[in-house]
Amino acid sequence: MDERIYNFSAGPAVLPVPVLEEAQRNLLSLPGVGMSVMEISHRSKTFDEIIENAERGVRELLGLPENYHVLFLQGGASLQFSMIPMNLLPEGGSADYIVTGSWGKKAVKEAKREGNVNVAATMADGGFTRTPGDDEIKLDKNAAYVHITTNETIEGVEWKREPEVGNVPLIADASSDILSHPIVAEKYALIYAGAQKNMGPSGVTLVIIRDDLLGRIPDNLHTMLDFRTHVQNKSLYNTPNTWGIYIIDLVCKWIKEQGGLEGMQRINEEKAQLLYDAIDATDFYRGHADRDARSIMNVTFRLPSEELEKKFASETTAAGLDGLKGHRSVGGIRASIYNAFPRAGVEALVAFMKEFERKNG
Ligand code: PMP
Repeated sequence: MDERIYNFSAGPAVLPVPVLEEAQRNLLSLPGVGMSVMEISHRSKTFDEIIENAERGVRELLGLPENYHVLFLQGGASLQFSMIPMNLLPEGGSADYIVTGSWGKKAVKEAKREGNVNVAATMADGGFTRTPGDDEIKLDKNAAYVHITTNETIEGVEWKREPEVGNVPLIADASSDILSHPIVAEKYALIYAGAQKNMGPSGVTLVIIRDDLLGRIPDNLHTMLDFRTHVQNKSLYNTPNTWGIYIIDLVCKWIKEQGGLEGMQRINEEKAQLLYDAIDATDFYRGHADRDARSIMNVTFRLPSEELEKKFASETTAAGLDGLKGHRSVGGIRASIYNAFPRAGVEALVAFMKEFERKNG
């Protein structure tokens, strides 16, 4: 097969074609270097430039103030579920978690190993279809931090604005909507995200941490698990994922060409609207998330029966629309349409949906 198909996978996910092409051109030899980015020392001048460019790309796109550090770590967003409470949940303290889906639940599970967790709100009862209003959130004003998941990848539920947390540091798992729309960076004390949806390949985790948080870290942590190690060593304490960081640099440049995060948001909202309009046009398809919490990255919906969902998933795959089967924990259909997912692919899915309903409705 030499044709690219439409890849609706939740992650690792589709990357921009121009980025893949540039990486392919430079795979055997970075211009002027004579070696692949995967073959050079992470301590070389060439790699210094690459990691500095990647950091600058992230900083410029998100408008990060000087007092934020940008780290490229490993262990996935999943390791951050542990590292964050290890570093920032002090003995005897408590942290607030607002749970709007499956990933938030996992974050809670790990934080509980480290200390006290107050689940300030959970949307589990409704099947994770929405984000809570401020009046539904029981915050502890002495909490070490408040943790949210900006976009729940499995349920397709996205915060449209941050919860009101006062002076308590807000920490966000932004794995599946980082760089998909502008944010006000100052509202967050820490943002983390696995790279494999909107930024690059798997194997790199972006952590953005405000400088003052470093002062709260206890001194007894393992070196690799202490954020200060990675700040002091500019993400080069150990060997980082050099290839992944290189791709992040290219992806940031590509996003700038799309008009930065404002441009990206416009494109993403248009794509998502096409799909949600198709879902709302008929009773055959039923959106999972409430309208005001619908994700522009992961569009989740149901069909009238599980049989039809199975049929839909297998027929779409056969038609070159891959990865639409919902997560095994919730079923249904999920169309992940990250930054690099082409509008034409969304249009192809909408056309398929109409035809599928005509035949099976
Ligand atoms: N948080 C969210 C919101 C995610 O979507 C994912 C991965 N799908 C994770 C955390 C876990 O990320 P990783 O596999 O990089 O550990």
